[in-house]
Amino acid sequence: MPEPLYTILGAGLSGISTSYHLSHENCIVFEAKPHTGGHIHSQKINGFTWDEGPHVSFTKHQYVKDLFAESVENDFLEFPVHPTNYYKGAWIPHPAQSNLWAVPEPLRTECLNDFLATRKNDEDAVEAADYEEWLLAAFGSTFTKNFPETYTKKYWTVPSKELTTDWVGGRIFYPDIDVVKNGYEGPQEESTHYISSIRYPANGGYHQYASGMEKGMKVECNKEVAKIDLERKEIHFTDGSTHVYQTLISTLPLPKFIGYCKAPEEVQEAAATLSCSELLILNFEVAHPPTRTEQWIYVYDEDFYSTRINFTDLLSPNNAPTGKCGIQVEVYFSKYKPLDKSIEYIKVKVSGELVKMGLIKDSEAIAAVHTQWIPFANVIFDHPFQASINTILDWLTIYGLKRESDDSFPMTDWEKKFTANDTVGDLVLAGRFGQWKYYWTDDCVLRGKYISEAINSKKQ
Ligand SMILES: Cc1cc2nc3c(=O)[nH]c(=O)nc-3n(C[C@H](O)[C@H](O)[C@H](O)COP(=O)(O)OP(=O)(O)OC[C@H]3O[C@@H](n4cnc5c(N)ncnc54)[C@H](O)[C@@H]3O)c2cc1C
Repeated sequence: MPEPLYTILGAGLSGISTSYHLSHENCIVFEAKPHTGGHIHSQKINGFTWDEGPHVSFTKHQYVKDLFAESVENDFLEFPVHPTNYYKGAWIPHPAQSNLWAVPEPLRTECLNDFLATRKNDEDAVEAADYEEWLLAAFGSTFTKNFPETYTKKYWTVPSKELTTDWVGGRIFYPDIDVVKNGYEGPQEESTHYISSIRYPANGGYHQYASGMEKGMKVECNKEVAKIDLERKEIHFTDGSTHVYQTLISTLPLPKFIGYCKAPEEVQEAAATLSCSELLILNFEVAHPPTRTEQWIYVYDEDFYSTRINFTDLLSPNNAPTGKCGIQVEVYFSKYKPLDKSIEYIKVKVSGELVKMGLIKDSEAIAAVHTQWIPFANVIFDHPFQASINTILDWLTIYGLKRESDDSFPMTDWEKKFTANDTVGDLVLAGRFGQWKYYWTDDCVLRGKYISEAINSKKQ
């Protein structure tokens, strides 16, 4: 058998998509876990289907929509999104900035007055040195302090001052003045959330969206990389085996990848500054149907561990047995906010929070709670990021990496990317953690497509 041309590390969606687009017969994929899927892996326990945190597809790319639809033979559900916010006992439709009517007084009026004093016209450009400045300029101090600032500390695990703004883009709704004024008076007819409609597989959880691409993939699971010799193009695994590659595509988290290579001290130091949140997921099997209709909830109370909560059976009714519901709670940590209590303590505390919020009728209704620890959740785009990523990528050029025009930017503009003149070399990085980007699943699919096109155009 001829050696595969392309060696891919990691069988998450980026690895799967890269192998699929390069054609499986040309690739070999190595994966540390016993299963494929990485962060989109879904598991079934006691009749409940659980994803690794809430996963829905809101892609605008028709190519990805079609691939996902084909994977599940068009057996997906499509519906509008209605998230909500919980704030000290009040339920505020999402996004809160355009639904001030639901904020309790006097905070409701204070938020509006502050907003109007800050925003003089809709043309105000928000140029800010950090995310805190951006928030203050967009919303005024009262709303910022009570809502996005509190949530930033819970979700991103750092104060907003520590974050840059180049990832904000379309992710945070920047409302016109009239939208806020009208939203102060009462509910708006149109939703202003950046996601309007979502798709989700009818059966088997989000991982099903990759099942079509995975068919025929040559993957070796339980194969954990331990060391990479970039000079000799040799990969060493924890089981003692080795593999020599021609072209290497790594989707492994970048700090781990650098740790496996004999990188100079300044590169190791740069890798150590890359920050990422860690996620504790608590999956509750609940003995009654959902008590609310919104698919997910953002929780602003600082004294609650619960940060985001979703009802899994509001994504697909097949995710939970009839008459029951699956409630998934996300709690975030990081090097900036280390795990402060035992998992058992957090389980009990979060159970109490769910009862207090009315999402679980009483503790008797909890049939089981499973927890899962996700060491790489969201890349934290803090101030050291830019310099660190440049140091790392510059060093990797010695070993065949080609710098790309957007490789130090958190997101990719795919229309520009597919027409840019970037090329790839014998060493390529792919994926949310491989490239250290704010990537959703559609970005991971498109990265695989892009790599294949770049490699194939090089060969011509
Ligand atoms: C909580 C949460 C919610 C999300 N929600 C959404 C959503 O609603 N919609 C959406 O589009 N996206 C969502 N995402 C983003 C999405 O999950 C990611 O963009 C995508 O799954 C990343 O895929 P990847 O292949 O780049 O990385 P991964 O899935 O992390 O794949 C990397 C693989 O490398 C393997 N690996 C690591 N170390 C080694 C080693 N030493 N040796 C061999 N293999 C190794 C890992 O086991 C893993 O399988 C969410 C992410 C999170 C964390």
